[in-house]
Amino acid sequence: MKLTLCVFSFLITVFAAQASGADIRLIYPRVENEKPIVYPVPLDSTFVLGNVTAGSVRLQINGQDVPLSEHGAFLAWLPLRKMTGQTSWELSLLDGEEEIASHSCPYQIESNSSAKSIADTTFRIHFPRVLEVTVPNGHIRTAVQGTYHIFPEVGCRLSAVECSGGFFLLDLGNGFPAAIDTSFVEIRQDSILSPILLGNGVCRRTESDSRCSFALAEPVAWHSEVSSDGQTLVLDLFRVASAVNRIRYDVEDPLIRDIVWEQKPYGVTLSLNCRNKVERGYEIEWREDSLRVSIRKPFRRGLNNLKGKKIVVDAGHGGKSTGAIGPLGTNEKDVTLKWAQILKHELEDCGAVVNLTRAEDADLGLYDRIDTARKLNADFLLSLHCNALPDNENPLTRHGSSTYYYQSHSRSAAEILHKALLKASGLPDDGLYDANLALVRPTLFPSVLIEGAYIIYPPEEEQLQTEAFLRRLSKGLTHGLTEYFKTAR
Ligand SMILES: [Zn+2]
Repeated sequence: MKLTLCVFSFLITVFAAQASGADIRLIYPRVENEKPIVYPVPLDSTFVLGNVTAGSVRLQINGQDVPLSEHGAFLAWLPLRKMTGQTSWELSLLDGEEEIASHSCPYQIESNSSAKSIADTTFRIHFPRVLEVTVPNGHIRTAVQGTYHIFPEVGCRLSAVECSGGFFLLDLGNGFPAAIDTSFVEIRQDSILSPILLGNGVCRRTESDSRCSFALAEPVAWHSEVSSDGQTLVLDLFRVASAVNRIRYDVEDPLIRDIVWEQKPYGVTLSLNCRNKVERGYEIEWREDSLRVSIRKPFRRGLNNLKGKKIVVDAGHGGKSTGAIGPLGTNEKDVTLKWAQILKHELEDCGAVVNLTRAEDADLGLYDRIDTARKLNADFLLSLHCNALPDNENPLTRHGSSTYYYQSHSRSAAEILHKALLKASGLPDDGLYDANLALVRPTLFPSVLIEGAYIIYPPEEEQLQTEAFLRRLSKGLTHGLTEYFKTAR
């Protein structure tokens, strides 16, 4: 009985379609109550399927030809347009160039992406899957709860093997594990990411630095570190295979002596062995099909003082970011600005060329501060802050001054400045730290962050309110920088 009904209704459907001429029936995505379909942000592509009147010749969806089966079925895999407003799938049945039927299916991309939304949709993503970094200053972690240690450029492709709690778990090469926040990437259609070939290298020197470049077709994830003796810049390139057959050297190069490459299971390690310490800084970037490493030249002899040194002083926080607030209501942002202005004058008195990242009470992002120093090709970046503790730490147990650095070529400067700071503040030693903070992460110049005193600790807040104390700190830091440039090469 049921079968008879089915056949009967099928015949009616076919008859109806033929009677009404050409037609398009969209099966998926399913439209309910004429409402637009809502796609979660992490999807960059989706499928659209349905059928058209048998015998039709040509179907287009958003201007793209979609193959039709003999019986008029279609299954299309289509990119979602990257836009915030409403858009639509426009299905068009063509006979030659003439449109004989059309169907419009509105959709929109969910506006507020969240870790939850991607977690909810992972069942739609098949792994492994290729991701592409779409956000500048994103980072890759060692694991979901791990520290971040790789800072991929926009356009860098990665291989995801799983999604968990707002993170994609990555395979950086031959099973080398890592994790990236889902908000830093978009999902691509490919599932396999082949190793990228690293081609031949060329070294050359300019007025200001020594450079080497290697052919590399696209940006890759890398991690760099200066060796503890300061003379080797080690660069790990993930998911890269060496195709290096020759490296051209410049025998007159004062810095780069030789470059050794080694194929590792996860990629290639390049070791740039230098004749001098890599202390002034370096930069690694991918541009125009090549990986470029620039190492800044040492200062010439006789220039080992503050005269002419380009120093960028960063007054922490500003605008809506008040920073920590003391019991008396002192804003960290106001103290750091006043302190930066005093320090600027002290350094200028010694001949330094000083720029402030902000000269007024204004909002300024962390990376904008770093950009200021980068554009000026700074010789040093010094960021000023006043300390506080998180909710779960007893604020009466820690006081004093502390100093932070991250890159190993900033270590000697941090040590000298910390000693000078303690002497000037007369406060307890709250520590010298290797800390993964944005302001001390740049590689192009040595960079140090100072926490002058605890603004949340009443006796230290009172000191921070006085110009005399800020001047003492500034004189101490100026002395420290003078000492540093005496030894810096
Ligand atoms: Zn701060």
